[in-house]
Amino acid sequence: MAETPTSVRGMNDLLPPESAKWQHLERTCRELFARFGYAEVRPPVVEHTDLFVRGVGEGSDIVGKEMYTFRDRSDRSLTLRPELTAGLARAYIEHSMAAKEAVTRWWSLGPVFRYEAINTGRYRQFYQIDCETYGVGEPTLDAEVIAMLHALYTQLQVAPLTILVNNVGKGDDRARYREALVTFLTPHTEALCADCKRRLATNPLRVLDCKVDRCQAIVVTAPSVLDHLGDAARDHFERVQATLAEMGVPFTVEPRLVRGLDYYTGTVFEITTTAGDLGSQSTIVAGGRYDDMIGELGGPATPAIGFGIGVERTILCMPGEASSYLTPVGVFIAAHGAPARRRATALAHRLRRAGIAVEVEHREVGMKAQFRRADKLGARLSLALGEAELASGEGQLKDMATRTEHPVVLAELVATVQRLLA
Ligand code: ATP
Ligand code: MG
Repeated sequence: MAETPTSVRGMNDLLPPESAKWQHLERTCRELFARFGYAEVRPPVVEHTDLFVRGVGEGSDIVGKEMYTFRDRSDRSLTLRPELTAGLARAYIEHSMAAKEAVTRWWSLGPVFRYEAINTGRYRQFYQIDCETYGVGEPTLDAEVIAMLHALYTQLQVAPLTILVNNVGKGDDRARYREALVTFLTPHTEALCADCKRRLATNPLRVLDCKVDRCQAIVVTAPSVLDHLGDAARDHFERVQATLAEMGVPFTVEPRLVRGLDYYTGTVFEITTTAGDLGSQSTIVAGGRYDDMIGELGGPATPAIGFGIGVERTILCMPGEASSYLTPVGVFIAAHGAPARRRATALAHRLRRAGIAVEVEHREVGMKAQFRRADKLGARLSLALGEAELASGEGQLKDMATRTEHPVVLAELVATVQRLLA
């Protein structure tokens, strides 16, 4: 006998009631992002491998060891997207957005793929929600983006929140810092983990981001990138902080925050939380400025800033049982006998068309069992239909919490239910 199929390691099924919590997160994002002017974009899940090599960067862990890359039947090298920013940048360029509007605000949501060690909050297929803004280089936008995330997580009741901000510099500032960091790290080479030994040569800033304890111990005394910023970057960072302060958004400057992707220039940020017991996976959203990417990918030089929300991690931090996010059943209709079931189906249809969530029992089961199901579903009201109700055209709507009964004329069911549920 053939083996029963199972899912791929690190790639999970999302089932109810968990999916209700996801829908709440997605709905909250949709509404909030719309108020900030973001419009939704859905790029493909697969892109040319080269996009990520150039966009995410050869020195990144993602490109170095985490991508799902394969050859298609025409021998093209394709990759399941490991993040959303590069694909959105590609779309921005491909659709000549810079020529169409001065400022573009896009958001997107979907699965991304990384081959990494599985843990709580660390999977091989996971979801990200991204916002990207193109065409604005001003520090007030950086603050606005961070403040939007603060508003989002506050609305989702994720607490406590720590908002970490830093400026990683660009161009000459970055080069000078890189040099200072290499000078500092080189005497410690032997003590670094194997990954960091490699990073020291390819992408030394990434050593600051390493999660291995002995690397963390070394970098506590590393030089600060903030001491290597030129006047322009320092001024930009100060304005970001002043704007956040004026908005009343709490934040902490973390000079060792660098982010794992190569493309960041200037402002970077992360939000972490102890809610959800995520351990070293406590970063629930991360982002920053990447003013050079659009130009480097062949588009017109365009400043940009964005972030990626880790959906699974955010879900783990949102309070309450997943089932508490389900849409409650408004009315459960229990029916006895074929004519009553027909009537129940018609009444349910009328209620649902009026916007009320209804469950109707289609199976021939005893009334006791039907009411047990109504309770299990958390129905607010129930209605029993049998021969007597069909004959009189009247019934009783039972409030399932208080067990009180309200007489109802079946012809006026919609109005009565609306009144009782209000
Ligand atoms: P980490 O340092 O935890 O590996 P990262 O720097 O690789 O994170 P980003 O590329 O910035 O993460 O992705 C944005 C967000 O996506 C992260 O802050 C995190 O919440 C989430 N995330 C990253 N990798 C995973 C994963 N393998 N499984 C689930 N969520 C993830
Ligand atoms: Mg990672």
